[in-house]
Amino acid sequence: DPARLTKLDEVTWRIEPTGAMRVPAILYADEALIRDMDDKVAEQASNVATLPGIVGASYVMPDAHWGYGFPIGGVAAFDPEQGGVVSAGGVGFDISCGVRTMTTGLARAEVERVKDALADSLARAIPAGVGSEGAITLDAAAMDAMLAGGARWAVEQGWGEAADLERIEEGGCAAEARPDFVSARAKERQRREMGTLGSGNHYLEIQAVEEVFDPAAARAFGLAPGEVVVTIHCGSRGLGHQIGTEFLKEMVVAAEAAGLVLPDRELACAPIASEVGRRYLGAMRAATNCALANREILGHFARRVLRHFFPQVEVRLLFDVSHNTCKVETHQVEGRPRTLFVHRKGATRAFGPGHPSLPAALRAVGQPVLIGGSMGTGSYVLVGAPESEARSFASACHGAGRAMSRHAATRQWSGRQIVDELAARGVLVRSPSMRGVAEEAPGAYKDVGAVVLAAERAGLARRVARLGPVICIKG
Ligand code: 5GP
Ligand code: MN
Ligand code: MN
Repeated sequence: DPARLTKLDEVTWRIEPTGAMRVPAILYADEALIRDMDDKVAEQASNVATLPGIVGASYVMPDAHWGYGFPIGGVAAFDPEQGGVVSAGGVGFDISCGVRTMTTGLARAEVERVKDALADSLARAIPAGVGSEGAITLDAAAMDAMLAGGARWAVEQGWGEAADLERIEEGGCAAEARPDFVSARAKERQRREMGTLGSGNHYLEIQAVEEVFDPAAARAFGLAPGEVVVTIHCGSRGLGHQIGTEFLKEMVVAAEAAGLVLPDRELACAPIASEVGRRYLGAMRAATNCALANREILGHFARRVLRHFFPQVEVRLLFDVSHNTCKVETHQVEGRPRTLFVHRKGATRAFGPGHPSLPAALRAVGQPVLIGGSMGTGSYVLVGAPESEARSFASACHGAGRAMSRHAATRQWSGRQIVDELAARGVLVRSPSMRGVAEEAPGAYKDVGAVVLAAERAGLARRVARLGPVICIKG
């Protein structure tokens, strides 16, 4: 019920705690985005606000839409010392799904000259589609090493570069991962899926820097107007999905056992300190390492292809961020530091300038925040704002966000028509699934420009550059 929303300023809306809500819900969006937002989002954010140990507020990012239990675009932090919980639905099924952007220093014109052949080579090198399998098969020992080591493991195996690691959250490896808490079924599903893109919403894109908003930050990020970058969006494949599915079931039982009264069964969760909670966190961190390793390997494949066309090219990782996570972080709450379990589901961490976890070359500027738009419109690179810490536990949006369901999109567009229209505009799409392309039609997403502007006005992250699509390899 939008009537429950109180407008605090042009981009901030509040739902007062009522009933079982322990904290308010805060939504960041402009008036038009709020008007078009699913009513379910406010309801889901209010439901999250009832969970034990929640601190501050239940936050909603401007790209939010309805999700399983928690909204996609939801942020919530829990204090383990106040009975705080961890929720599989609050992380999302595709654990550690995320985005990386790599700079190339190539001019757009150089790439345009070989565009068709480059698109074909990338499509051959990057296995894509539902259940896609790659050339890498892991035995039991290698699987456990990957789940413990993340992108570090990938680099050790020769599928990546050591210099990448400091440009990945947590140095490329989530600590306290527990491969032994990952089920045999989850590992089996992943056996042949490393270095694959997966389906639908995941992509590898060649993009060009089309607009710069903050020249100093763009320079620090290595983003020059007219230059080309590679962006990869994907997650923990079958393994993450299996872990999410299994723990969701376990958490329904665990929540009941802990005597938690949930407004929605989909909010199944377990106390952080409980046996199920600890097991989920260990397995989730292993899945995070799977996603970090996977993006590192895909980055390596993209490098190989680019070097084939441009032998001198230097492909440098700008940053790799996950947007389906639960991370232990220290945040200032009412003037005192507290250790919190921050859930970001379809939301990006957005540390502001000076954050100690950032690599030296980025620390003065802030964390790159990588935002997908659509294969036809554009994407953005933002930088975490100084105010993000106080506004959203240092979080921002993760994309444009869906404006309609996948099903509705397939009724409105055909994949072939989308591919042809984009080709006529110079954007080459390669995908094994025309249905997938229709589901991901640019028109099925919100206006990404409006979303990032709202994020900027709300003090979550500032715009650095806009990236236009050149080639999109779609899952
Ligand atoms: P999600 O992680 O929620 O599946 O997707 C994140 C965001 O990626 C979406 O909100 C959407 O804006 C963006 N996105 C989806 N497909 C594409 C694509 O093919 N290219 C680009 N650049 N962005 C996309
Ligand atoms: Mn994602
Ligand atoms: Mn995903």
